[in-house]
Amino acid sequence: MVYTSTRDSSVRVSASEAIAKGISADGGLFVPMTIPTINLVDIERLARLDYIGRAKEILRLYLTDFTEDELSMCVEGAYKAEKFSSPAIAPLYKLNDSASILELWRGPTCAFKDMALQLLPYLLTVSAGKTRKDTKIVILVATSGDTGKAALEGFRDVPNTEILVFYPVDGVSPMQKLQMTTQEGANVSVCAIEGNFDDTQSGVKAIFTNREIEEKFKEHHLAFSSANSINWGRLVPQIVYYVSAYCDMVKSEALKLGDPMNVVVPTGNFGNILAAYYAKQMGVPIGKLICASNANNVLTDFLTNGTYDKNRPFYCTTSPSMDILISSNLERLLFLLSGQDAEQTKKWMTELSETGKYTVGEKMQKELRQLFAAGYCDDENTKRTIRKIFDEYHYLCDTHTAVALNVYAAYKTKTGDETPTVIASTANPYKFSASVLKALEDNIRSKDEFSMVEELHELSGAPVPPQLAALKGKTPRFTKVAKKEDMASVVFEMLGI
Ligand SMILES: *Cc1c(COP(=O)(O)O)cnc(C)c1O
Repeated sequence: MVYTSTRDSSVRVSASEAIAKGISADGGLFVPMTIPTINLVDIERLARLDYIGRAKEILRLYLTDFTEDELSMCVEGAYKAEKFSSPAIAPLYKLNDSASILELWRGPTCAFKDMALQLLPYLLTVSAGKTRKDTKIVILVATSGDTGKAALEGFRDVPNTEILVFYPVDGVSPMQKLQMTTQEGANVSVCAIEGNFDDTQSGVKAIFTNREIEEKFKEHHLAFSSANSINWGRLVPQIVYYVSAYCDMVKSEALKLGDPMNVVVPTGNFGNILAAYYAKQMGVPIGKLICASNANNVLTDFLTNGTYDKNRPFYCTTSPSMDILISSNLERLLFLLSGQDAEQTKKWMTELSETGKYTVGEKMQKELRQLFAAGYCDDENTKRTIRKIFDEYHYLCDTHTAVALNVYAAYKTKTGDETPTVIASTANPYKFSASVLKALEDNIRSKDEFSMVEELHELSGAPVPPQLAALKGKTPRFTKVAKKEDMASVVFEMLGI
């Protein structure tokens, strides 16, 4: 399997090079040049395996320069039963006859980012071992909340790595902040940035592509890599759970082998839904890909009318992990749908960085509308949906999942589409206790985060993840707040160079 760059068609790298590098030197993203396929017989076989077995089978199709032993070591290390609160790793919860919720937050940090970030450190250290032996890998992360903690947890004390996480100072929930600032481990650092997620992300991207910094790193035998969802090693583990969800839908007879399944994904950087697109292209019978946004509905507009325009107000919503106006992984979709046209993709990305917008042609618009449905949901409707789902099904969902459930309900009303549907649930509700509690009760008595957790537990009966409860009373280790312009010097300081 050969990988190329979305912005330079002459690039040829192996899977391990793509993962070790994170981002192509031209600023593009790595993509496999062909998409491997599976058929219904394969799916039937996969359905008989457990999650680890399924993951090995899917990953080996993409990571062709990993040996079987390496892959087994990676997958078995990542999805160890004791790290997940469900033996199924990514279990389906049957909401009603047509809709099931894919709980992707059963991992150590209670967010779906664990599904990829428990595996990435293994993939990355194996990749680095193949490509650059005596170099220490420095992982730089820009996070809208969940990636940061999941990456810190995944990389903590992994030999030969350092991890630095930047988050927007007012852009994450109190629980997310506390999860990050109390992180343990000898190779971890965390710093807040004055600005929003897009500022933080563009700051990190600028460091990655800065030649001077690269030289300085070389001198010290250091090399950057990315744990953001632009890294192929983040994306490929996510394909697995859509294949796995289809297997489980067949097994539970929610659908017949070969029948279509729709997928609804609460979307920010477009990584999660892109993984569903890959699963569909591989041959999993996936019908519509339903892209759910919050008030930052730049993707709803793009998928509806073909113009991506980030020149619009930025809203801080109750689903902060989706407060994003530049969805980085969309670049991969543009590249694929344009027939792997790197020149055209680069043109759009240049337009985006220079003018904040671009428009794709009629043909691609039509294709986008065939593949995707899109909708958005504001905070008020998010709140109503949490309440409604709890009242109707006694199921407690977080704000991001509520956005998806709301958009799905609107889609069903509008289209009458009764196809069995899987809704990606991306966080445990206790990560966003304040918003979830306010949705269930008008007059809440709690003032601080942990009494809210308790009040929500009393009200809903939903179990509190022990790792969140354990944060109570912990003192933060990392309290630094920096300006975006100073990010590079923060990196040097953290690394002591
Ligand atoms: C990251 C995240 C999302 C968005 O996922 P993308 O892959 O960036 O589209 C949605 N919900 C939660 C809880 C997240 O942490």
